[in-house]
Amino acid sequence: MCFDCLKMNRRNFLSLSATAVTATGMIASGARQSMAATSLTPDEALAKLKAGNAKYVAAPELCEANLKAQRSEVAKGQQPWATILGCVDSRTAPELLFGGTGLGDLFVARNGGNMADITTLGAIDYGIEHLGSPLLVVMGHTRCGAVAAACDVVAKKAKLHGPIKAMVDPIVPAAKAVLGKPGDFVDNAVRENAKRTVAHILASSKIVAEYVHHGKLKVVQAYYNLDTGAVEFVG
Ligand SMILES: [Zn+2]
Repeated sequence: MCFDCLKMNRRNFLSLSATAVTATGMIASGARQSMAATSLTPDEALAKLKAGNAKYVAAPELCEANLKAQRSEVAKGQQPWATILGCVDSRTAPELLFGGTGLGDLFVARNGGNMADITTLGAIDYGIEHLGSPLLVVMGHTRCGAVAAACDVVAKKAKLHGPIKAMVDPIVPAAKAVLGKPGDFVDNAVRENAKRTVAHILASSKIVAEYVHHGKLKVVQAYYNLDTGAVEFVG
């Protein structure tokens, strides 16, 4: 993380400290948090993610995190300003590719193929309702292994077993939906799968639907390019 990022984060931390105390108290008592813990709007959070990724693409060597300083800043509470549902792939760590983010910035859930099962929905709901995250990003990526496996099930009748089969099976409908369409099969399936995950979250989480309805949350689909480092936002 660069010095500009740190300065900005310190300002945010100071301005949000009062809110954080309130939020922590509400969570401890089990009460529902009615106000976002961060002052960022959904659009401001999205703009910040875009700026961070642009910095990561243009000058990744400038982004180094001062984790010691950040650790003490967020030890007593967190006010993440974006929730990211991404893939478990080791090359897609959100804190790195949205350059300038560190401890306490992003509320992250990751699994094979960025899927929203019931426990992931719980994490998303918590990040939004209790921590006040105003933005939810579902992010797929190029050459996703989990999606490629689902494509192999569809196109090559590949047989999977055990937990890996359980991980890949929910992605198969997205692969089936784009089979035979122009372009790269896996790439198309990655985009279709992320779109379906967004739709599933909107249909399954009352909290997400409610916060979106009241303009307190924006849900966007994103696509990370392993080669260029760029994140393409959709919607
Ligand atoms: Zn992946």
